[in-house]
Amino acid sequence: MTDPALLAAVEFARAAAREHAGAEVGAHVAVRAEDSASATHLFDAAKPGYRGWRWAVTVAIAAPDDDVTVSEVALMPGPDALVAPPWIPWQDRVRAGDLGVGDLLPTDPDDPRLAPGYAGSDDPEVEALAMEVGLGRVRVLSRLGRLDAADRWQTGEFGPGADMARGAPASCGTCGFYLPVAGSLGAAFGVCGNEISPADGRAVHAGYGCGAHSEAEVEQISPVLVADLIYDDARLDIEAHESAADEPDAEADEHAAGAPSAESVEQAVAAVAQGEQADEPSGQPESDQQG
Ligand code: SF4
Repeated sequence: MTDPALLAAVEFARAAAREHAGAEVGAHVAVRAEDSASATHLFDAAKPGYRGWRWAVTVAIAAPDDDVTVSEVALMPGPDALVAPPWIPWQDRVRAGDLGVGDLLPTDPDDPRLAPGYAGSDDPEVEALAMEVGLGRVRVLSRLGRLDAADRWQTGEFGPGADMARGAPASCGTCGFYLPVAGSLGAAFGVCGNEISPADGRAVHAGYGCGAHSEAEVEQISPVLVADLIYDDARLDIEAHESAADEPDAEADEHAAGAPSAESVEQAVAAVAQGEQADEPSGQPESDQQG
């Protein structure tokens, strides 16, 4: 239990504060027990630019019935004080896209996304390849790092849920421009190698896709809309013709040259009439002649 003499030492604490801050010490706000031998008295601070701040005077006592002494006087923010936001280390403040040309961003030595190269890549396929070609790196992507990347790429701009993918004729996994990445991530991710695509040079999910898919087929149609052929028989085009009477008798003229003359026609008719009279029997019907 805090010594009552400490809690009651309001004026003693105010005097200590005024000795330090003069007229900037305002009304007594509260007393806060620190432990059995110390307490802190709080006074409003009338200091320009420090709205809501308080002068805090910590008093202490060495033993019961000893004199109260001042431990420290400090300017402290109150609950409504205007204060700077909490400090965040720079490595926690950097976000994707912050890195500019010429910037250096050292990786945290304890970055959980990386694992020492000598400890293995944590990826059997990468490990086998590294052994085969004799290459090695100081650090490689850890399992956590790969899962992080896979999650980011799958839900990102070039993941299967993107608007572009939903409107694509087919997915990257079946596209000739799709270059699968090495290691276990190659099961679901690759790099687009089509300069026409918005994903060119980017890591794409096998379920992503775009209209530049290598096997996209476009129906060959006229670039200009062609209307169906329609016969409009509701409209008649009328052409004016000269009447027959006004027309020259072309047919008559045509036959005129080769046609027999009227005189020769009369002669032919007379010859036929004479022939018929000569063939005619003498008043006997044809049936009787036969019988
Ligand atoms: S061209 Fe389109 S479908 Fe093909 S790999 Fe690139 S993004 Fe995928």
